[in-house]
Amino acid sequence: MYLLFSNPDFDTPSGLKARMFSSSYLSSPTFKTTVCKYVTTPIEIILSLNKPQSMYCQLLIGLIRRHEVLRIGTIFASTFPNCIKFLQDHRKDICSDIRTGHLSDWITEQDCRTPMSSFLLEPNSELADLLEPIFENESWEGIITKLWPKAKYIDAIVTGSMSQYIGLIDYYSGRLPIISTFYNSSEACFGINMEPLNKPWDVSYTFLPNMAYFEFIPVDKESPQKAQKLHFNGVSNEESIEKLENGNAQIVDLVDVKIGQCYEVVVTTLAGLYRYRVGDILKVTGFHNKSPKFQFVERQNVALSIDRDKTSEADLSKAIKAAEIELEPRGFLLTAYSSFADTWSIPGRYVLFWELKLRDSNIDQLKLDSNTMEQCCRRVEESLDFTYKLFRKMNLIGPLEIRVVKFGAFDELMNFCVSRGAAPLQYKTPCCLKIKEAIEILDSRVVGKFFSNGNLA
Ligand code: AMP
Repeated sequence: MYLLFSNPDFDTPSGLKARMFSSSYLSSPTFKTTVCKYVTTPIEIILSLNKPQSMYCQLLIGLIRRHEVLRIGTIFASTFPNCIKFLQDHRKDICSDIRTGHLSDWITEQDCRTPMSSFLLEPNSELADLLEPIFENESWEGIITKLWPKAKYIDAIVTGSMSQYIGLIDYYSGRLPIISTFYNSSEACFGINMEPLNKPWDVSYTFLPNMAYFEFIPVDKESPQKAQKLHFNGVSNEESIEKLENGNAQIVDLVDVKIGQCYEVVVTTLAGLYRYRVGDILKVTGFHNKSPKFQFVERQNVALSIDRDKTSEADLSKAIKAAEIELEPRGFLLTAYSSFADTWSIPGRYVLFWELKLRDSNIDQLKLDSNTMEQCCRRVEESLDFTYKLFRKMNLIGPLEIRVVKFGAFDELMNFCVSRGAAPLQYKTPCCLKIKEAIEILDSRVVGKFFSNGNLA
């Protein structure tokens, strides 16, 4: 059961039609004749442009065919919580459809209704009786293995910024192995994971040298962000390449990368991109035959910035991981996070949005303990870099704030991004929010605000 969704084509200002990479892949002959044979859902439902109706039918078919399901997947792990929330919200309709053998009337799209008729053949009260108590269980811990007992693994990318979903997937899947199969982008296909059973933090992608012409800009191993800023401060993509060509920095070919070194990847593609900086920082971990293997380090863009402090996506993720240990003993699970730099307050401060859930229950009301949450704020601050701590001590940056949002708030954020044109299949939770409306969506679902207090060590 691999959950896939398509986006409508759209017109660019020049009048040319454009299509999201994922939709283009789903409508390709390769997908239809190969991959599609190994998923539970018929192609018509995958290609339906009505996402809720398509999702509903995909989950319903997945449950009807539950004994055939060996893997559960989405492309990026960030889609996973959205699917679980959807299942939670629609569980009653799903059980009723199975029990009566009649598809809910709110599924109106013919590309969903017609293929569904070959799955909902007759009432199946036996299956409905089996599913209902699983769905109504107070805790959804390990629900995936209960619903799909033959599932062997979860197929979803959990490297890079997607690592924030590992805890949530582990929780729902009862710790099935999570496999990140490939490293891909709209610009080019980079590599595949040749050791799929490696733990997420040990995953490397072996580059496929025939997919594009790959080149690499070396960046500082300890602090890729800052090295990048030093080399290319304030210059555009083309200008920085010019700098490279003028010898102000080096660029190396695929065969010349060194183990242990970090690089920013640059692609030249058959589609016409010339020395395009995709924006990803990678670290060489070894070679497969003569092709290098890379670990994904982070997106090049700085996540948070106040004054001259710059905090990268990877640094933020590490600091949040360090703070998460405070939540474990209290029975909380961090299901998603994002952030923004609040530059309206004086001094400015970093604000984190945290979506929390109780491990043992689906109850919405969270009893938050301010000591624990303040301790989390503090842990995050203590785990940030030297510059951050220095600026905090000099009071150039104010105490970090954590705003806890209701479970499901990040789902609304995703819906908002999708309504603004993001492809559901390529959606990545923004680790830093820049758009006012996006901040407002989370802000309107805040259930508690906490600040770091006291002096930093
Ligand atoms: P898109 O063009 O929307 O498909 O996004 C491509 C971007 O997603 C890449 O440049 C990476 O930043 C990220 N990405 C893709 N695959 C992976 C992966 N396996 N691990 C981490 N990040 C990834």
